[in-house]
Parts: sequence; C-alpha cells; structure tokens
Amino acid sequence: MRIDLMEILPVTLQRKEPFAIARGSSDIAEIIFVAVHSGRRTGHGCAAPSEVTRENVHSVTNALQFIARALSGVEFERPGSIVDRMDRATQGSPSAKAAVDMAIYDLLAQAAGLPLYAYLGGRLDRLPTDMTIGIMDKEAAVARAQHWVAMGFRALKIKVGREWRSDVKRLKAVREAVGPDIELRVDGNEGYSWADALSFARHAQRFNIAFFEQPVAVGDWEGMRALTESSPIPIMADEMAVTADDVKKLRWSNATRMVNLKLMKHGGIARTIEVNTICESAGYPAMMGCNGEPQLSIAAALHLALATRNVRWLDLDSHFNLQSDPTAGLRFDGGMLLAPSRPGIGIEVTLPT
Ligand SMILES: [Mg+2]
Repeated sequence: MRIDLMEILPVTLQRKEPFAIARGSSDIAEIIFVAVHSGRRTGHGCAAPSEVTRENVHSVTNALQFIARALSGVEFERPGSIVDRMDRATQGSPSAKAAVDMAIYDLLAQAAGLPLYAYLGGRLDRLPTDMTIGIMDKEAAVARAQHWVAMGFRALKIKVGREWRSDVKRLKAVREAVGPDIELRVDGNEGYSWADALSFARHAQRFNIAFFEQPVAVGDWEGMRALTESSPIPIMADEMAVTADDVKKLRWSNATRMVNLKLMKHGGIARTIEVNTICESAGYPAMMGCNGEPQLSIAAALHLALATRNVRWLDLDSHFNLQSDPTAGLRFDGGMLLAPSRPGIGIEVTLPT
C-alpha cells in the first residue's frame, strides 16, 4: 500500500454546552482532520490537541505538513514503519501523529475487509462507556446525572479538583440522585494539593467511587505516591502518563494504580499499544479516554479498546457534547458504544470542501 496524497483540514466544532474542569473551561473543540489517499481507498483520522501534550491547532497543522511531506509516496504494509517515520520527521505532536496513525489503520483494515477491532484481534463489537459531568453547581450536576442515566449510561465520571468540600457535596447529591447501581468515577485534573486530595478521598469514599483520576499536578510525584499509598479510592494517572517512559516512572515511583490511555496523548493506536504493554506488565489496568473529539477518533479508540484485554473502562463520551459532528456512524445503545461493522474504522466523514 502506498501513500499517494494526504489532505489536512482544521475545523472548529461547537460544543452543546461549555465543558469545565479544574484547569479551565471550553465551549469549542478544535479538530484537525486528515485524509490519507491510497489508490482508490481513503483512510480517515483526526487530531484533537490539548495543553496536556503542549499542542494547539497551529502546531498540529504545522506538524502534519511536515509529516505529509515525509510520507508522500511511501510504501507500507504495517503501521509500525509509518509511526517510526513520523517520529523521525518531527518531534512531539502526538495528536498530529494519532490522526495519521488512525488513517493508516483505517486503510489497512479496509484492505483486510475487516472492521478495525477485528483487524486488531478483537471479537466483541461493544463496550459500556461512562458520561462525564463537568464542574458545575450541585443542582445542575444532579440534573445532568439524571438525564444521562435516563439515556442509558451506567457509569458517570464527575469532574472535581476546585474546592474539595463542595466537590464532596456535589458527589453526595449525584449519588443520592442516581442510586447505588450507577458506577461513579472522579477526575481531579491536577486541581488539588495532595493534602486536599486525601481529604476529598476520605470523605468521598462512602459514595462508592471506582477511581480517582489525576488528583494533583503532573510534577507532584511525591503527592501521587502518597495518595497511591493512602487514598481509600484507587488513584489513576492521566496527564502524568503520556509516554511509555512516563508509565515506567509511575511504576518505579509507585505513583499510581491505573492509567487513562488516550490516542491523542500517546500518538495513535500503535503507540497506545506500546504504552498499554507497559501498563499491563506493571499490573495497571487501563481506561480508554478521550479529549474533546468527534465520532471518528472516538470510534478508533473504541476499536482499539475492543481488542485490548487490559482496558477495563471506557470514557469515550466527548462526541455526545458536540453541536454538530461532521463524522457519523457510531451507535450508542443501552449504555454501550457499538463499533461500526463496515471494514476499517467505519465512520462516514463529511467535511466542507
Ligand atoms: Mg482525566
């Protein structure tokens, strides 16, 4: 298979409502779409940059132009050679590389005549995802929780990390509103000091919380270690776990119990498989998470999760909050995301020309 032409198109997508976390708030998602043409086939991918990997729409577009030149006319049979070439062409820019990587996997699975999860070795076509509720006042959070549970979600992720006492009150109100059978998860997005995070965890544990994502800042290894040892809610690393080396350091430091994997952080499917291999050998179960992304890359992450036994949870929900999504074909039923059965990623992409 040969890369004949690569198209790059940045698009700003409006969210239905602003999404607030400990680090800030946003009402748009900036997405850079990529189409890789090979003969009569087209592979689709997209990048959703975030400050976690120090990327933005401009840096990603630049990186993709470099990558497009480096990959022009290249023959490939496996994705590994392409991701290595991308790393030689430009440093960093994992979400830019994720966009190209998923387009390459899309092409290969199309050529194999298999949906991507089956191409990657998976058998099931669906998994349950949670829905995330941003930071908002207690009444609004309860209304959202009830709405999402009525839509079929069996797990909710509540954003915390601004003020631990009010976070506990909001969590209590959500638990009382949804009852005992809905799984609740929390994400601090680096917002707490380790002492506040421990106070939060000790007060929140009675609401039966599955895990506590990235409570403290990325540089706070001692805080993460103290919490991993003392928090009654298991700690999960997210912003701190970008590369495979990061996960090795987390293991050596005993600074987490679980890891949130994201295509956009690690640089696509091939690199996420590498990061997960370290997670698995460290004894860290993983979640498959996302940035603010459309159905296309959410579907790519779902396909990978379906083929990865170590992925125990899905947090693939950002497309539900987009006002309009130029990509379509991902179904949601009974709390489950269903991977398209067409060959490849299987998502229809309709972009302005
Ligand atoms: Mg997170």
